[in-house]
Amino acid sequence: MTVINKEKCTGCKICQIYCTVDAIHYADGKCYIDQDRCTECYVCLRQKVCPRGAIEPVELDNFYKQFQHVMSDPVENHGVTGVTGRGTEEVKTNDVSGRVKRGEVGIAIDMGRPGMGVYLRDAEKVAMAIVRAGAKLAPAEHTPLAALMPDLSTGKLVDECHHYHLLSVIVEAKCREDQLKDVLQALQQVEKEIETVFSLGLIMRVDEKGQNKTLKVLDELGIPQPHRGKVNVGLGRPLCTE
Ligand code: SF4
Ligand code: SF4
Repeated sequence: MTVINKEKCTGCKICQIYCTVDAIHYADGKCYIDQDRCTECYVCLRQKVCPRGAIEPVELDNFYKQFQHVMSDPVENHGVTGVTGRGTEEVKTNDVSGRVKRGEVGIAIDMGRPGMGVYLRDAEKVAMAIVRAGAKLAPAEHTPLAALMPDLSTGKLVDECHHYHLLSVIVEAKCREDQLKDVLQALQQVEKEIETVFSLGLIMRVDEKGQNKTLKVLDELGIPQPHRGKVNVGLGRPLCTE
């Protein structure tokens, strides 16, 4: 947990401009950290933004606080996946991992962003919505969020984690190409029910012109066609040939 030592704080407000999610507030001549909003990203600590050294760490005393910190601190390493940042070997690395097979669409829903963040209760709403539409969520060895889901076939998270706020998190899944329209419609519906934003990555094979016939459902649903493609080069690992 990150706290401000009231004895040391002069109320200069310098720290406020560095907080990634506006979790530092001012009252009665001092600043304090809104613990419901702080993501434990440690930017304020790591950058030593307080000239008085008033921002102090307190030991993260439970699993969910540690999860929150690992997911929000870009230099922290996730214990299971071994990946820094959001701790996920993203489905976007499909050129290497081959997790998305022919006839399937990989789905990466990037929830939250600096300045806004994402509560895990909203990640649950999105995960449950796409599961109901036919998507299969990625397992815990691929993506950290699954560690909070006792049953991947529902997308429900353990109740204890709902109020934790993260800088961002990725809901990763895949579906059959013929299920994509249902999944996208579910996302269009659930985006009205959450307190944050997300961007959507679709992972699929394309022809020489960058086309896949499945993309026509975007037009049917009034979603702009993607503006760019992204190829993950694998950084020395062999490309998947499946
Ligand atoms: S920068 Fe330090 S002294 Fe200034 S308001 Fe923040 S915690 Fe207090
Ligand atoms: S740890 Fe991050 S979210 Fe929390 S107060 Fe510091 S900068 Fe803000």
